[in-house]
Amino acid sequence: MLGEGDVSRPSSFWIRLCVLLIGYHSFHCLFCHGYEERFSASSGVLAVGDLANAPPALHFARNAHQLTPRGVTIYTHGQASLHDSLVSVLGPDSSINVDSRVITRLEKGAHRAEVILHFADGGRAVEGFLAHKPKCQLSWNFAQQLGLEVTPQGDLKVTPPFCQTSLPGVFTAGDTSSMMKIAPNALFTGAAAGAGVAAQLQAEAMGHKSMV
Ligand SMILES: Cc1cc2nc3c(=O)[nH]c(=O)nc-3n(C[C@H](O)[C@H](O)[C@H](O)COP(=O)(O)OP(=O)(O)OC[C@H]3O[C@@H](n4cnc5c(N)ncnc54)[C@H](O)[C@@H]3O)c2cc1C
Repeated sequence: MLGEGDVSRPSSFWIRLCVLLIGYHSFHCLFCHGYEERFSASSGVLAVGDLANAPPALHFARNAHQLTPRGVTIYTHGQASLHDSLVSVLGPDSSINVDSRVITRLEKGAHRAEVILHFADGGRAVEGFLAHKPKCQLSWNFAQQLGLEVTPQGDLKVTPPFCQTSLPGVFTAGDTSSMMKIAPNALFTGAAAGAGVAAQLQAEAMGHKSMV
């Protein structure tokens, strides 16, 4: 079994962010969470980690805009090139704002999922909720031990539909096997990998070439 978890980062900013994410209901997927906060005046997207690229940051921001159409801000935490990429896509009159100030502290607000962002310039911003997907990585070093190929996203490379890894006889499923880290995918790939293992073992037992 190969597990996966959120990456912990050494800086105090990241430690505080993790505390916030775990304890104060920031949302890593706005299909799964956030609907209950749709009456908030505004929301924020923290464009660091897996969201430190324009396409995923914009994806989250558009999702957030469905919930808080009066205000969405993408926070790039000092990443100037990301700020410029986002502004060039959004244009000057966008209803999605971009704020590139360096964040020094995140604080739980008084209401529901409210978050207060404190910046290096002394300013602060209040958001009804913060959306952010922490970066994931394989939590055990099986991939290195077994020499398994890994995708650019850090997941194990598998051959669909039976989820065999690059090493024949080793299968994986769920979060480790896909960038789509959702329960339905874990259920489906788990079933497919189970079928693949059975098919291969039966073929081997009869001296046949496996079709997996
Ligand atoms: C906060 C949060 C909210 C989510 N909300 C949703 C949602 O609303 N809808 C949705 O579809 N998905 C949601 N997901 C994603 C969903 O939970 C995962 O996609 C799904 O659980 C993945 O299943 P899995 O079996 O691949 O991994 P996991 O459920 O993580 O199971 C892996 C198991 O392996 C164990 N393990 C790891 N390493 C080892 C080892 N070396 N030896 C033995 N055991 C080990 C772990 O302890 C764990 O029990 C959410 C995820 C999070 C973190």
